Amino acid sequence: MIMPKILFIQPTQYATNGGLCKQKRINLPGLVFPLLAAYTPENWDVELVIEVVDDVPFNSNADIIAIGSMGHAIFRGFEIAAEFRKRGKPVVMGGYMSSIAADKAIEFVDSLIIGDAEVSYPMMYKDFEETGTIKRVYDHPLTELKDLPLPRYDLLLKKKIGSMLPVQAGRGCPFYCSFCSIACLYKGRYLFRPVDEVIRDIKEVKRLGYNRFYLIDDNIVSNPNYLKELCEKIKPLKMNWASQCAIHLAKNQELLKLVSNSGCDLMSFGIESVQQDAIDSFGKTWLKANEHEQNIKILAKSGITVSTEMIIGTDFDTEISICETYKFINRNRVPIPRFYILTPIPGTALFKEFKAQGRLLTEDLEKFDGTQCVHIPKSITPEKLTEMYWWLNNKVFSLYSIFCRIVINGSLWKNPKMLIFSLAINFHYRHYIRRKITPNIF
Ligand code: SF4
Repeated sequence: MIMPKILFIQPTQYATNGGLCKQKRINLPGLVFPLLAAYTPENWDVELVIEVVDDVPFNSNADIIAIGSMGHAIFRGFEIAAEFRKRGKPVVMGGYMSSIAADKAIEFVDSLIIGDAEVSYPMMYKDFEETGTIKRVYDHPLTELKDLPLPRYDLLLKKKIGSMLPVQAGRGCPFYCSFCSIACLYKGRYLFRPVDEVIRDIKEVKRLGYNRFYLIDDNIVSNPNYLKELCEKIKPLKMNWASQCAIHLAKNQELLKLVSNSGCDLMSFGIESVQQDAIDSFGKTWLKANEHEQNIKILAKSGITVSTEMIIGTDFDTEISICETYKFINRNRVPIPRFYILTPIPGTALFKEFKAQGRLLTEDLEKFDGTQCVHIPKSITPEKLTEMYWWLNNKVFSLYSIFCRIVINGSLWKNPKMLIFSLAINFHYRHYIRRKITPNIF
């Protein structure tokens, strides 16, 4: 008997200069599809395509095509959806972008899963098996994050992936930064998995022969007691891990020590700007620009390699402040910096604010890729801002800057593995910048 089949597709994105972004391997593969595969009924066959490293099999015999929508890759997802629909295949889409821009996404697919998929996805199967059709929209937010099955890591192991596997801890965030898609989707909700369930998945990663994992969580430090318990249970496993959180981890010495001693060697921090007015304008008033330098020093000293996320194009940004941003990154020897142009994603408070003020240059979402200015900033022209974005990236990923931030970075020399890792990422990003691709795939 032929088993019914679902084809999961994680689309890649287009580069600014045309072609699809492709890589020889993907270092940070997503968790969504391995997790959804674990929810798939046993009588179904599952295939996973990660387009960054795979080709999309448009002649697939799958019964359902499920497409992810991470960031700007949603537009490639729409193209893929159109091809499969032409071939008569039902297409369902889920993920952050299609949840936030649901009104647009629904035009391109047969069915949309909005927000968390853990409840919606099994319902979709049930509908398909009972009626042969799926509903237009499934929207069933979770109120708790527990009893998740073990992700189907075997699907990732068949791919060309790097040295880490993903493990989920929490989902959502208690804060409401005006530009943030997570705030827009979760509206202050922050769900945690029970620590023992997270540890079960980490042990599985270890059993599969991986000594590194990255903890998927939007702000792991916002529940210090949870993080403390987690670190205490990770430490005996003698693994290394990476994640992202608020930089005020640096202010809690006891917790920072636990995090570092548990094997965390890489953290990403949204420090947003070197200007307090800009940070305040996002409603992120607890983040203090004048503490960035000290925080970065403390984190580096603790053995954690610092990655930063910053935004340019606020109402307080000028050519001078963007030059200052470059100097800040160099002066503080940030090993892995990333930048985005302020982008008012539809659904966010920022989008509503700019729209009400008549400051949106376009509502064509294809232009909302974080590399081009789509709003009217107050202190710099949109054209100049876009030009400065590429200038900043070219400066930061110049050989001179890489040398200053990494090669002569004393903290990194204490951990040669992370030094090599940082160098690899920087050269990878440098390669992307030269092709005018924003460095957000690794
Ligand atoms: S703290 Fe980070 S994840 Fe939370 S709302 Fe702000 S930007 Fe988003």
